Amino acid sequence: PTEANDAGGLKKQTRLGLEAKKEENLADWYSQVITKGEMIEYYDVSGCYIFRPWSFEVWEAVRNWFDAEIKKLGVRNCYFPIFVSRAVLEKEKTHIADFSPEVAWVTKSGDSDMAEPIAIRPTSETVMYPAYAKWIQSYRDLPIKLNQWNNVVRWEFKHPQPFLRTREFLWQEGHTAYASKEEAVAEVATILDLYARIYTDLLAIPVVKGRKTEKEKFAGGDYTLTVEAFISASGRAIQGATSHYLGQNFSKIFDIIYEDPETQEKKYIYQNSWGVTTRTIGVMIMVHADNQGLVLPPRVACIQVVIVPCGITVGLSEEVRNVLQASCDALEKRINKWWSQSRRRLPFKLFARLEVQPLGTQVRRDTGEKIVLSRANIAQKIRELLDEIQNGLFKRACQDLESHKILLTDWSLFSPNLDKKNIILAPFCGDSDCEGKIKADSTREEEDLSRDDDAEPGAPSMGAKSLCIPFEQPAEIKPTDKCIHPECKRKPLFYTLFGRSY
Ligand code: AMP
Repeated sequence: PTEANDAGGLKKQTRLGLEAKKEENLADWYSQVITKGEMIEYYDVSGCYIFRPWSFEVWEAVRNWFDAEIKKLGVRNCYFPIFVSRAVLEKEKTHIADFSPEVAWVTKSGDSDMAEPIAIRPTSETVMYPAYAKWIQSYRDLPIKLNQWNNVVRWEFKHPQPFLRTREFLWQEGHTAYASKEEAVAEVATILDLYARIYTDLLAIPVVKGRKTEKEKFAGGDYTLTVEAFISASGRAIQGATSHYLGQNFSKIFDIIYEDPETQEKKYIYQNSWGVTTRTIGVMIMVHADNQGLVLPPRVACIQVVIVPCGITVGLSEEVRNVLQASCDALEKRINKWWSQSRRRLPFKLFARLEVQPLGTQVRRDTGEKIVLSRANIAQKIRELLDEIQNGLFKRACQDLESHKILLTDWSLFSPNLDKKNIILAPFCGDSDCEGKIKADSTREEEDLSRDDDAEPGAPSMGAKSLCIPFEQPAEIKPTDKCIHPECKRKPLFYTLFGRSY
């Protein structure tokens, strides 16, 4: 279809429908969904994108929910500067070794070189912890539970994709400090559960909870917990959010110590850091959107229902207006706007369309099904309908994940299963070199290798990374089990989830 441009009244021809199919050309489809759905505008700095209100409001829904949950845990928000000096950034060696290729530096102000280049934070451990060292003297200063809602910059060289992998992204980063290891260990798991709920309860996406292998864990931390999501259209997994137990690594480097009240001994504190980003929006789109465009789970949709007065061409009669108003009131303002017969491009973002006739007709965005409701108990019915839609989306995504998660002990089936867009649970020894071999040997040689990490979604050549060691193990490791890599002589320790990933 075409339509007139609202703003200038010019007859600018805009194609509203998607011209690519999710199952045929995922990259084009994604690009069209996010631009025609008015979520993203492209920008002239590679890897950076404009978030329009339709996408930012999804982020706000995630943010509002998570912010309220962490406040229940006693976490408070604060703000630290975006800039970090070289000396401080480079203090923790393993941490910076991992991040250094992606750090963006400010080297000039105007035409003059800076006396010292200043880095833009890729994450804020080193920005925040010198202050923690000052603030913590005694056990009474603990715990510290701070969070920032901010932006970070990682000049990634992997193929950038709106929301999923961007060079600047929005996130929250929580940084907590405890006197005891037990408290830190408990919190890192509590936060992971909240991250899982962002996906399952808000975005209607199942995740696999687990621990990262040594190779994939956060540099400078003791261990990393993760929620991994699955995008069946590409057969690739994606790291949904991570919660890091830092142990005493940073406190030893930044000298963050408190005096034990009993022994008067100086003790290093235990720390965690955890983050979830605007990647969530991209995962939601990849999982739920279809060939008609966006599908937003009701819990994160800023508009859940639109009321469409039907059969009215010139203005609205008083009677219809009253009916609309009554319906809006009945729906407890869950309807923020109603369709004004203008040419707004709303259908792309909509969930349920409520046509006001003597009887209302609901059209479900997820199934396209038409339902007729009487006005009597419409608020209750719509609420149930939205829950049903939310649950239906979740159920479908769960089936998608379950049917693509394959348990394997035979290496010869490993790559063929990746090609079938599956992710794989296999016994694994946990060794980083062995993991490197699994990735290298599952990369298809006959394909163009340069496509590996730069690959477009669905690229067939990409090797498998370890995604996580799932908390919920599919089976016990038996004495006769072997590590999945055929050359490995080590004993497998656990089932590990492997897959192509973003
Ligand atoms: P990290 O601090 O490296 O553990 O990153 C925290 C989370 O940020 C990860 O679990 C990813 O979900 C997400 N993330 C990492 N890199 C990017 C990126 N370039 N764009 C968007 N989200 C990202």
